[in-house]
Amino acid sequence: MRILVTGGAGFLGSHICDYLLAEGNEVIAMDNLITGSTDNIEHLAGHDRFHFIKHDVTNYIYIEGTIDAVLHFASPASPIDYLELPIQTLQVGALGTHKVLGLAKAKGARFLLASTSEVYGDPLIHPQTEDYWGNVNPIGPRGVYDEAKRFAEAMTMAYHRTHNVDTRIVRIFNTFGPRMRLNDGRVVPNFIAQALRGESLTVYGDGIQTRSFCYVSDLIDGVCRLLLSDETEPVNVGNPQEMTILDFAYKIVELTGSTSDITLMQPEDVRVKDDPRVRQPDISKARRLLGWGPKVSLDEGLRKTIEWFRDRV
Ligand code: UDP
Repeated sequence: MRILVTGGAGFLGSHICDYLLAEGNEVIAMDNLITGSTDNIEHLAGHDRFHFIKHDVTNYIYIEGTIDAVLHFASPASPIDYLELPIQTLQVGALGTHKVLGLAKAKGARFLLASTSEVYGDPLIHPQTEDYWGNVNPIGPRGVYDEAKRFAEAMTMAYHRTHNVDTRIVRIFNTFGPRMRLNDGRVVPNFIAQALRGESLTVYGDGIQTRSFCYVSDLIDGVCRLLLSDETEPVNVGNPQEMTILDFAYKIVELTGSTSDITLMQPEDVRVKDDPRVRQPDISKARRLLGWGPKVSLDEGLRKTIEWFRDRV
C-alpha cells in the first residue's frame, strides 16, 4: 500500500512509519515539525519507499498519485505542548482533520484517526469503555486538546456517514518508549530524566492520580490491527495495568538505580488543573475484535526506554 502518515516525524508517527516500511509499504510522512523532529526519521533518509514532506496539514494538502491509507497522527500531544500551542492544537484537530479527510475522500483511501483517552476527560466511569461519553471541561487548559479530538472524531464519523469514507478511530491511552522528547513535560520523560540526573522526581498534586502505560510497540501493533479490521467505531488501545503516579515515581527510581528522592509539588499553574484522577482503558473491545492485547510488561518497556534516554540526558 501507499500510505500517508501525518505527524510522521513525531514519537508515534515515526514508529508507525518504521513498522509500515518493514511490512513492505510505501510511506509518505508529513509533518510541520512544530513538535516532531527529523531526528526521529533520520535513519529513513534515502530509503527508496520513504518520502518526507514538510507541511502543515491545516493547509490544503496536495499529493500526487494514489494513496491507499491515511493515518492522521499530527497534533501536539503532551499537556505542556498543547498549553504552549493551544490554537495550533485546536487547528490541527479541527481544520487539519477536515483537510486530511478531504484528501482521503478524494483518493478513495482508508482513514485512521489517532484519537485519545482525553476524550473521556476526568472520567466518571472506570475503567473507560468506548461507549462512555466523557467528562470534559471545554474551557479548561486541556480543553483545547480534548475538544479538538472530540471534534475530530465527530468529523471522521460525518465523513464516514455522509461521504462513505472508510474510517477508523483509535483512542490512544498513555504510551511511552524511545523517541519521546526529553522535554515534552510528560511524566515518563520527566521522571526518567530527573532520575538519571540525580534530581528530585516531581510528583504533581497528591500523587494518587492514576495512569496506565503502554509500550510503543504494543500500541503500534494495535493501531495497525485496527487499520486492517472492519471496525468503524472507536476502539481503545492502551495497557490496562494501572498505577498511581507516586508508585510510578518509585518504580522509575528503582529501575534507573538512581539515588533521587521524590517531591510532591503543587504547581501554581495549569499543569494540575483538570488533571484526570484516574485513567485505565477497558480493552475488551480490542481483544475481541482485533485479537490484540499488550505483550510488553511495564518493567521491560521502561528498561528499554531508560536505556534510550541514558544516552541523551
Ligand atoms: N506528572 C507528574 N510529574 C511530572 C509530570 C507529570 O506528577 O513531572 C503527572 C501529571 O500530573 C499526571 C500524570 O503524571 O497526573 C501523567 O501526566 P502526563 O503529562 O504524562 O500526561 P497525561 O496523562 O496527564 O495526559
